[in-house]
Amino acid sequence: MEYRKEHGSNTWHFCQDCSEWPTTSYNSRAGEPANAKLCDQCRSLNVSGSCRKNCVVGDHDTRRPDANPA
Ligand SMILES: [Zn+2]
Repeated sequence: MEYRKEHGSNTWHFCQDCSEWPTTSYNSRAGEPANAKLCDQCRSLNVSGSCRKNCVVGDHDTRRPDANPA
């Protein structure tokens, strides 16, 4: 999963649906940066399931349609 941080910002984004997802001037990492400050909007998008572009925190996949709580 790609993380992006806009130049001059300390906040990392991981959801491409985020309105603040950096597209021009940013640092990019393949994994979650150490001590990262993660974007609140990215987090809420992810938690609410609104983020549909492979933006899932951690290794577990919560988007599986067959993830049926018993
Ligand atoms: Zn964000």
